[in-house]
Amino acid sequence: MDFEMTPEQQLWKNTVREFSEAELEPIARQIDEEWHAIPDEIIQKMADLGIFAVTIPEEYGGMAMPGEEMQYAMITIHELARGELSMSLPVYTLLCIGWPIIMVKYGTEEAKQEILPKVASGEWFFGINTTEPGGGSDLANIKTVGVDKGDHWVVNGEKAYISGVREATERGGGHATLFKTSPELGYKGATFAYFPANAPGTTYSTYSDMGRMGLSTGGFLYKDVKIPKKYILGEENKGFYVNMEGFNVARIVVSAACLGGAEKCLEISRDYVKQRVLFGRPLANFEAISFEIADDYAQLEMLKLMLHKAAWMIDQFNSGNTSITYKDINKAVAICKAHSPMLGVDIAKHGMMYHGAFGYTKDTPLEMALRGTMSYVVGAEGGYHIMKIIIARDYIGDEAVPFRGTQEGH
Ligand SMILES: Cc1cc2nc3c(=O)[nH]c(=O)nc-3n(C[C@H](O)[C@H](O)[C@H](O)COP(=O)(O)OP(=O)(O)OC[C@H]3O[C@@H](n4cnc5c(N)ncnc54)[C@H](O)[C@@H]3O)c2cc1C
Repeated sequence: MDFEMTPEQQLWKNTVREFSEAELEPIARQIDEEWHAIPDEIIQKMADLGIFAVTIPEEYGGMAMPGEEMQYAMITIHELARGELSMSLPVYTLLCIGWPIIMVKYGTEEAKQEILPKVASGEWFFGINTTEPGGGSDLANIKTVGVDKGDHWVVNGEKAYISGVREATERGGGHATLFKTSPELGYKGATFAYFPANAPGTTYSTYSDMGRMGLSTGGFLYKDVKIPKKYILGEENKGFYVNMEGFNVARIVVSAACLGGAEKCLEISRDYVKQRVLFGRPLANFEAISFEIADDYAQLEMLKLMLHKAAWMIDQFNSGNTSITYKDINKAVAICKAHSPMLGVDIAKHGMMYHGAFGYTKDTPLEMALRGTMSYVVGAEGGYHIMKIIIARDYIGDEAVPFRGTQEGH
C-alpha cells in the first residue's frame, strides 16, 4: 500500500497550485460578480498548461498518463477549486476532463477524432445532459425520445438544469446525453450519445442561480434534432449503464472540487482565528472553535483518503484489474459524493461564524464557496439521498433497494 503521489503527480499538483494561486484567486470574485463568465484568456492559459488534456490519450491530442487518468483529474480539480471558490471554473473543467473518459472508452473512432482534440485544446466544452423537468433522480422516466432514421436519430424533448448550455453553444462542443430509443422498455430502452449543442433544432434557456455565477445552468429544447449515430456512447438501449459509469467518474472530480474548496476555506479560517483577539486571547484559544476546526480537518483528511482510493479503483478497473468490481466502485464513489459537498458547506459555514459579521460580507470568499458548493448538495451529479441509496443497497443488500433502474450501475 502506498499513500504517496508519484514524483510526476506531485510536480503536476505543484504546477496547478501555482497557476491557481497566481491566476485564479485574484479574479474569483470578478468571475462571480462582474463577468458571470470565465474569461477566454484563462481557458487558453489552462489549455496551454495541459489541464484539459489530462484524461485524453495522446492520439486524440491529449497527454493522459495511461492508468492514472482519474488520479490526475482529481489532483487537477482539487487545486483549481482552491483558487476559484465560486466553483464556476472547477466545474467547467471537471466536466471537460471527466466526460471524455467515457468517450475514450465507449465512443466511435470518428467521434473521438472529431471531438476530443478540440476539448483537449480548450476550444470546446464537454458536459453532461441527463436531467429533465420531470426530475433528475428518476432517470428511468426521462421523456426525451430519438426515433431511428438509419444513420441518425430524430430527437424531440427537453432537458433541465444542465451546466454549460451557453458555453457549449457559444464556444462549441456539446453534452453526453441520455435519451430514450425504445421508450416502452423503461431504463433498458435508453441510449447515451454526444449531442452537439449547435445541432439545428436545439435551443437553450438559462436559469438565475444562487452561485457558480461564472458558469451557465439552463435547459435544452430539442425539436426534430438530427443526431448522427456516430455520436453514440456504447450501444443502443444500453446507455443507462454507460451513463452511470460516467457518473462515477464525474462524482470523483465533483468530490475533489468540494474538498479542494473546503481545504482552502479551512485554511482561511485557521489563519483568522489565530490572529483575531477577543477576551485577551486569540479566538483559536477557545475550545469551541479549535475543536470544531480539529473535527473539520479530521473529516477532510479522511475524505481525501477515501477519494484517492475511489479514483485509484476506477483507474485500476479501467486498466483491467479484475479484483475490483463495479459495485465496489459505486459504493466508494457514493461515499465521497454524499459527504464531500456536505463537508464543504459545513466548513464554509463554520468559517463564516468564526469571522462574525465580517463572515457575512463579501470581503471574505467564504460565502461564495458556500453558494458554489451548495449546488452539489442539492443535486448536481446526483443528490445526497441517492448516494445514500447506493451505499445502503450495497452494504445492506436487496432489502434496501426501493426501486430498480435509477442511478444503478452495471
Ligand atoms: C447547479 C446545478 C447544475 C446542474 N448541472 C447538471 C448537468 O450539467 N447535467 C445534468 O444532467 N443535470 C444537472 N443538474 C441537475 C442534477 O443532476 C439534479 O438536480 C439531480 O439529479 C436531482 O434532480 P432534481 O433536481 O430534479 O431533484 P429530484 O429528482 O426532484 O429530487 C428532489 C430531492 O429528493 C431527493 N430524492 C430523490 N429521490 C429520493 C428517494 N428515493 N428517497 C429520498 N430522497 C430522494 C433528491 O436527493 C433531492 O434532494 C444540475 C443541478 C444543479 C443544482
